[in-house]
Amino acid sequence: MTGSPSSSASNGAVVLLSGGLDSTVALADVLSRQPVACVLTFDYGQRAAAHELKATRAIAQHYGLTHHIIPLPWLSDLLPKALTPKQVLQDKGLSLAAPATEAELFDVNRVWVPNRNGLFLNIAACFAEALKADSIVFGANAEEGVDFPDNTETFRQKMSDVFAYSTLSGVQVQAPLVHLNKTEIIERGLALKVPFEWVWSCYEDAEIQCGQCPSCIRVQNAQRQLEAQTGKAAGLAFQ
Ligand SMILES: [Zn+2]
Repeated sequence: MTGSPSSSASNGAVVLLSGGLDSTVALADVLSRQPVACVLTFDYGQRAAAHELKATRAIAQHYGLTHHIIPLPWLSDLLPKALTPKQVLQDKGLSLAAPATEAELFDVNRVWVPNRNGLFLNIAACFAEALKADSIVFGANAEEGVDFPDNTETFRQKMSDVFAYSTLSGVQVQAPLVHLNKTEIIERGLALKVPFEWVWSCYEDAEIQCGQCPSCIRVQNAQRQLEAQTGKAAGLAFQ
């Protein structure tokens, strides 16, 4: 990772934390290397918001970190149906058909929030510059990078390039998991003693992670694979 001109006087990193597997392990990874100025969580009316807020509060408390929850109420109107709370869909007279095929289930467009990572990183850059933090950290990873262009090394680099101009301090973007798949991320998390019992990766608002949405399926498959390969269990719970 390239350093910034202000790194010697840095107050550490600002970390995006959704409470899912990737952002939680990314946080633990950064904490093993440098201080964290604060963690940021966004409440944009997503279906899993209550679970994500609960998870992130517990994780931030576990690590003793300052936690800011940023409300983005206007973004809720731009959500895809698959991430919109069921009650909101009902109130608007909208229905959501279950995906008929696996291809449909994993179709990026079903769960794409317009410019979400771009927006979140820009907000984090405001905090980083103001708090004299030299970098922003997010949980981009190789597995989702295949389908989500905002989960790639190219995106990370381009955002750093933008912040060289939009911040006076030249805030850098870190994506410590960008070359790892989910199995490797769980393994990294186990090595870092991540409190997996708090992690919430599910798109739904069920009592326990649903085990059926694309995010759950990815994490569940990775957990099974790791257990089969190494006998290590992360303890992530699914229905
Ligand atoms: Zn799920």
